Amino acid sequence: TREPIVADAVIIGAGPVGLFQVFELGLLEIKAHVIDSLAEVGGQCVELYPDKPIYDIPAVPVCTGQELTDNLLKQIEPFDPTFHLGQEVTVVERRDDQRFNVETTAGTRFITKTIFIAAGVGSFQPRTLKVDGIEQFEGSQLNYRVKDPAKFAGKNLVICGGGDSALDWALNLAGTAESVVLLHRRDEFRAAPASVAKMKDMCDKYEMQLLIGQVTGYESEGDTLSGIKVTGADGVTRRLPLDHLLVFFGLSPKLGPIAEWGLDIERKQLKVGTERFETNVPGIFAVGDINTYPGKKKLILSGFHEAALAAFAAAPYIFPDKKIHMQYTTTSPKLHKILGVE
Ligand code: FAD
Repeated sequence: TREPIVADAVIIGAGPVGLFQVFELGLLEIKAHVIDSLAEVGGQCVELYPDKPIYDIPAVPVCTGQELTDNLLKQIEPFDPTFHLGQEVTVVERRDDQRFNVETTAGTRFITKTIFIAAGVGSFQPRTLKVDGIEQFEGSQLNYRVKDPAKFAGKNLVICGGGDSALDWALNLAGTAESVVLLHRRDEFRAAPASVAKMKDMCDKYEMQLLIGQVTGYESEGDTLSGIKVTGADGVTRRLPLDHLLVFFGLSPKLGPIAEWGLDIERKQLKVGTERFETNVPGIFAVGDINTYPGKKKLILSGFHEAALAAFAAAPYIFPDKKIHMQYTTTSPKLHKILGVE
């Protein structure tokens, strides 16, 4: 087994808040290791809405989830964080010397003075379609997310779900696909009313089709999923041929191993105070969507603020003898040196 990595700070989660945590720690000369279970950085922004515009990042009138992530990566470049991607943190335990052992599913081990949990909704997993055997098509024709919309151009699509993701993708892909059928179990939607109205309008114009029913089976030819069986409210089961099945039943947040680390949890979130954003375990901080406190709003901008205060609160654990001053990036020669902009 490899030797553990000795670190000052380990950040769990490479979503926008975990990435900005690197920056805030970097200004205080604390180098960070960042771990994420996903293979790519960006958290929800990249996993759930890479191409969608975000309008409420201060001083950035509009940017997509992917652009926000790219810019955060650029911003933290001077601090040269080490990324450990595609591995989930499973173990966090206090050592006798007051530092922590951290371990991932890939067997990477750390001994660290501080931990920043920026784990969002936890390791989030899309809710799957419960039809025996259909999982064999996951990743080929059964899709729980859209990574590359071009894949669906000219294809016959069935899109399942009644929320914003299902509606947004149905409207979006109807332009380029050969055909789009939106399949929902009832004629009521949890999506934005404007999207529902647009969908109904497009159905009236035969640009897409709405079907009420549930997937109860599938048909295949060799290794290919050729169609699904849909049972309607009338109890009749009909065949629906397709090239691709897209399922948007929402995400079920799995707090996962985080629940076992002895941290105070309230409704699947980590309780923190608003001065330090520290959990009940000194040295373990929680920032972004994973934390909760009175008045918490799950917004990216809130997470950025939390990351700044958490960094200041953590600094004394790493540099017990150093006086920590707040300085402006605009005017501080020291920060200019740290940022490499002298
Ligand atoms: P996340 O982005 O959830 O990232 C957490 C990361 O931690 C994930 O990558 C996960 O894989 C990883 N992780 C979790 N557990 C572990 C573990 N044990 N080991 C390793 N890795 C782990 N917010 C706004 O402010 N403005 C908007 O306009 C906006 N629009 C949105 C639109 C949609 C469709 C959605 C779904 C959300 C939107 N949000 C918006 C919310 C915003 O995306 C979240 O507030 C933000 O992503 C939270 O960032 P985070 O870094 O805390 O967590």
